[in-house]
Parts: sequence; C-alpha cells; structure tokens
Amino acid sequence: MNKFYITTPIYYATAKPHIGHAFATIYADVIARYKKLKKNETFFTVGTDEHGINIEEKAIKAKKLPRDYVDEINSFYKKTWQELYIDYDDFIRTTEERHKKGVEKFINKLIKSKDVYKQKYEGLYCSSCEKFLTEKDLVNGLCPDHLKAPQKLTEENYFFNLKKYLPEIRKKIIKNELRIRPEARRKETLKMIDSGLADFSISREKVKWGIGYPGDKTQTVYVWVEALMNYVTILDFPDGEKFKKFWPANLHIIGVEINKFHTIFWPALLLAIGESLPKEIFIHGLFTVNGQKMSKTIGNIIDPMTLIEKFGSDAVRYLLLSQFPASEHGDIKEELFIKKYNANLANGIGNLFERIFTLAINYKQKSGKNCDDEIKKFQEKTEFVYKEKMENYLLYEALNEVFFFVKKLDQYIDFNKPWVLFKEKNPKAEKVLETLLFGAEKIIVWLSPFMPIKMEQAKKYLLNLNNQKEKLNLFPRL
Ligand SMILES: [Zn+2]
Repeated sequence: MNKFYITTPIYYATAKPHIGHAFATIYADVIARYKKLKKNETFFTVGTDEHGINIEEKAIKAKKLPRDYVDEINSFYKKTWQELYIDYDDFIRTTEERHKKGVEKFINKLIKSKDVYKQKYEGLYCSSCEKFLTEKDLVNGLCPDHLKAPQKLTEENYFFNLKKYLPEIRKKIIKNELRIRPEARRKETLKMIDSGLADFSISREKVKWGIGYPGDKTQTVYVWVEALMNYVTILDFPDGEKFKKFWPANLHIIGVEINKFHTIFWPALLLAIGESLPKEIFIHGLFTVNGQKMSKTIGNIIDPMTLIEKFGSDAVRYLLLSQFPASEHGDIKEELFIKKYNANLANGIGNLFERIFTLAINYKQKSGKNCDDEIKKFQEKTEFVYKEKMENYLLYEALNEVFFFVKKLDQYIDFNKPWVLFKEKNPKAEKVLETLLFGAEKIIVWLSPFMPIKMEQAKKYLLNLNNQKEKLNLFPRL
C-alpha cells in the first residue's frame, strides 16, 4: 500500500477562520479523500500556530491570558473543520507539549550541524506580520498589509546559514526532486533563490509567548520557524513510528504568501539536519473578495460558518472549489454563490438525480449494467480526464469534467424521453434507464471526495430505491 502524507498550513491563531483558510483546508481534504478511495494509506494533518508577540498583543487587548486566547481561537477552527467535514487524521497546536519537545530536538540538531550563529540584528519589525520588513516593503512608511508603522528593533538573534543550502535546493527543484506546482510559482521560487537571499534568524529576544531556545534562556524560537516544524513534530519527530512511516510529506498545500518559507526555508532547515525533503508543494493563488484582499479594515472577511448556514456544508465545499482554478489568483463574489448553487447543484446534479431516480422507481429498475455506447464512451473520456486532473491536484478542472457529464446525461434524457419509451413499451426503454443509472453511479463516485455527505445520501437512496417514499431532494432550490 502506498503511503500519502498531506498537510495544510497551520493557521495563525489570531482570529476566527475565514474562507481563505477554509479553501486550502477543503482543498487538502478532497485530495486526502481521493487518495483514501484509491487505497493509499493516507495521513492528513491540520493545525493552529499559537505563539508569538502578535498573539500576546491580541490577548492583552482582549484582556485574556495568551493561553485562554488561543484556546478560544482553536475551538473556532475545530468547530469549523468539523462543520465542513474535514476528515483530518491529526490536529496539532504549537502550544502542545509534543510540539515543544519536537522543536527542541530539531533546534538541537541544527546547533549540532554548526549552521547556526549568533549575531546582532537591527531592523524594522511588524508584529502583526511577525517579520522584519525592509524599507522597500513599506508604503508611506507603513506595513502595506497592516497599515501600521513597524518598530525599529535591535536584538541579538541566532541566525541560520541559509546561503550554504541554496545551491542544493535549486538543484533539487530543477530536477523535480522537490516538486513545486504550479509552474508559475516554481519560477517565482527559482527567481527568489537567484536574487540571493540573506540568512534568516531562527530566534527572538524578549518574546515571552513561545518555545524557549535550547541552551539560551534569553531567546525563544522564532514563531514561524517552529510553526514550519509542525509537519514533523506531529509525526513524533525524530524517533516516532509515524515519522518513520510517513516522512517525507508527499504534499504540502500552501498559499502563495508563504511560498518562500515552504519552498526555500523549510527545505534548507531539513537539509541542515540531514532529513529528506517533502516531495511536493502545491501553491494556491491569492484569494480576494470582491476584488480586494480580505481584511478587517475593509470589512470583507467571509466567515465560512455564515455560508454553511445558508448553503449547507457540502455545497460550501463545492462553491469554494468551483470559483477559479487554484493555480491562479482568484476573486470571490459572494452574490455569485447563489446563482451557481441553483444552476449547478439544485438544477444540475440535484435535478438530474431526481429525474433518474424517479424513473427508476416508477419502472422498477435498480442498477445500470447495460449501458448505451455513446454514454459509455463519454463516461470513459470523463473518467480519464477526471483522474488525470485529480492526480495533479487540479480540483477545479476535475469538477468541470464531472459537470460536463452531468449536462450530457441531462441531454440524453431530453433526447430519449424514457417516460415516452416506457409508455410505448419500446424495447429501448430499459437500456436508456440503465444507462442513466450507470451514469448516476459514476457521478456519485467522482463527487464523493468533494461532497462526501450528499453523495453518501444519494448512494444510500439509490441502493434502496424500492423503499423510497419521499424524493431525495439533495439540493433544495434557494
Ligand atoms: Zn504587517
């Protein structure tokens, strides 16, 4: 059995999850479910990133202890993932003891590798970004993401010798040993490497809410550095059975804003301690709402829970993934959701299943073995393309294929008018109905990683057609 270890980014526990977080997490969930259907031994992880000054500041503002603050945010994440049927195998919080232990072991290995040195550093720091900015990054003297002035900081930090590992990382990317998709993002990574990157600090001074730097009480491990380590600490790095079995990761799903950290910094840290690199990193594009970056100031943050109340969980999974190809940047227009829901779910699959199942109930047909050649050929082509898209993590594209097939079956019904064929006792009637049942079964299988609960419902209904008293009504019209 093939193992497949897939991760989402762990999200910064400063606020409730928004649809950007939901998008990446649903994305990974669909891939994990697909791999499970293909009988891979799958391990799928999620988590929350809970340390750092930013969180300390937020907690003070909310008149809470950092611990209570992150507990609350964490519970929002867990609740949202539960509502969205995210079938993860493990959820890591960076405030857990197991994470702390793993990070200490990782840092100790880095210290042993002699790729870490102490140096005074002066720079402009944005605590909301939790990173140092250069003058070039600022717009009118402000952090462009948070619209606030960065602080001037002088501190002594431990630095990691990134430069030493850049040529090797470059080589591995070129040879696809470290695969980065889509191609545009891979080019960006190579460009960053070629532009020359400075060594980065892996510790901070005067940060209380964090993991102590081994052997130096004045320092804590830099929050984003220890956050990256979640991918191994969740497997009980370095000696755990899970680590031996599942590392290296087969796939990290991330967003474009953390590209550099995952495609360059993380591999460099792993190379320094002699561990294998993740096999592949898939980077989804930027996510805007009505043309603007989601932000509290603009007030365009969409809470997935609000969408779930309106459309139901499976529909939200579908609506988010079917907006635009993940490999591109895309814009969410909430007002388009209802149109798409009615067109593709209520009047699309929902209505198609209704038509087929009603015919099957009326004319006592249970399964679809005897399929029309025309539909069989179309189905084979759909299956081929669907599989190829799924294997390449192109979920938007895979969904499109399934919906072409949905349309095709609808046309097939309109053209053949099976209710007329049955009335006229035409010998073709049964074959037409069997063809439709065959098609419906395929759609259920293809869509089950995307809409697991609805497809399970449809499957159960189909298996027990003779005893159905009510209509399936999978996606009520809104
Ligand atoms: Zn900032």
